[in-house]
Amino acid sequence: MEAGEGKVNLARMAVSQVEKASGHLPGIDAGIFEKIKYTRREIIVHFPAKKDNGSVSMFTGYRVQHNDTRGPFKGGMRYHPDVDLDEMRALAMWMTWKAAVVNIPFGGAKGGVECDPRQMSQHEIESMTRRFTWEISPFIGPEMDIPAPDVATNPQVMAWMMDTFSIRKGYSVPGVVTGKPLELGGSRGRFEATGRGVFVVAAKAAKHGRFSLAGSRVVIQGAGNVGSAAAREFARAGCRVVGISDINGGLYNPKGLDVEKALDCKKRSRCFVKEEVDAEEITNAELLELECDILVPAAMENQITAANAPKLRCRMVVEGANGPTTPEADSILSDRGISLVPDILANAGGVVVSYFEWVQNLQELFWTEGEITERLIRILSKAFYEVKAIAEKERVDMRTAALVLGIGRVAEAVRLRGIFP
Ligand code: GLU
Repeated sequence: MEAGEGKVNLARMAVSQVEKASGHLPGIDAGIFEKIKYTRREIIVHFPAKKDNGSVSMFTGYRVQHNDTRGPFKGGMRYHPDVDLDEMRALAMWMTWKAAVVNIPFGGAKGGVECDPRQMSQHEIESMTRRFTWEISPFIGPEMDIPAPDVATNPQVMAWMMDTFSIRKGYSVPGVVTGKPLELGGSRGRFEATGRGVFVVAAKAAKHGRFSLAGSRVVIQGAGNVGSAAAREFARAGCRVVGISDINGGLYNPKGLDVEKALDCKKRSRCFVKEEVDAEEITNAELLELECDILVPAAMENQITAANAPKLRCRMVVEGANGPTTPEADSILSDRGISLVPDILANAGGVVVSYFEWVQNLQELFWTEGEITERLIRILSKAFYEVKAIAEKERVDMRTAALVLGIGRVAEAVRLRGIFP
């Protein structure tokens, strides 16, 4: 696939999803749908940070707060060269629907810095994180907006954000971010939560599709926070993870990869080494077209497009990433009988355990991993069946059904609160 082929503008895609969902939600005033097509606040900061050689670089950071009708804004912070306002708008909106689909009391936000963390030292990432946090700190907080990890951010980055915010306040505020290290009030099971959730909903969808998960072939695009945890969960459940990739490319073994070995190798060498893992090297484009039962895009947006959707050879797509499939690709997959579990349901495990972390921070009382996992499975299963019921009743695909559920809950909350003044 050529770079850019079939890609769509994410902000426009997110707005047209609201229009599509509103058609299934009669009885709600059109003005309410108009309101929720807009973000509430868009914070853009230009700030300097020092490099290790003493020189100064300028960065642009964003925090887009879409909607907080149902509770504080919530969503990740990503560090990536493609971060821009349109991407943040779409991702913030998807966070709002995601929180509503799983019925947790949050709104949606997204943020990040346009940068290439692979070209930066740890110290440079720390300086950039701290200055960025300082710049946006009037707009975040446990009751206002709670950041979390996303692409290329992790518990250490959350620790620096929490520390910087706390210094500004003059006292420790653990609830300002989620996805923190355990030692700083992080929650058990948060790191694995998104990948674990992907597995939980994939298992439900497989049961519905009447195929057995054990022995099924799984391909995972991405080996970051989501892809690595998902790979472990599928392997543990007896699936054959036949393909996995990172930004540089992927590995393939039709008999199934040794997932632990592959992830360990990536951790040590910062890339996959085929000789260490007993696998064939493939490109990311080839990986998406591998024959398998479950394909999990767990990297970036715009990966399954009109250009490659006709060539996919999976039975089911489970979206670990946000927005990996374009609307054109959605209809191609549905015409081809390939089912899809959409991002706002499939990858909601992360924000669900973020919610648990925030609750634990506010209560200053911590839960066991068993309690976390049990509550996570309960919430995701309920959301899965609610989405399935709408899909059957309205005769729509799972994405439309999830949007109808999420957008419907938000629209009803807006209606109840009313329009001020
Ligand atoms: N970045 C994750 C997502 O896209 C997690 C967000 C959160 O935990 O707030 O869902």
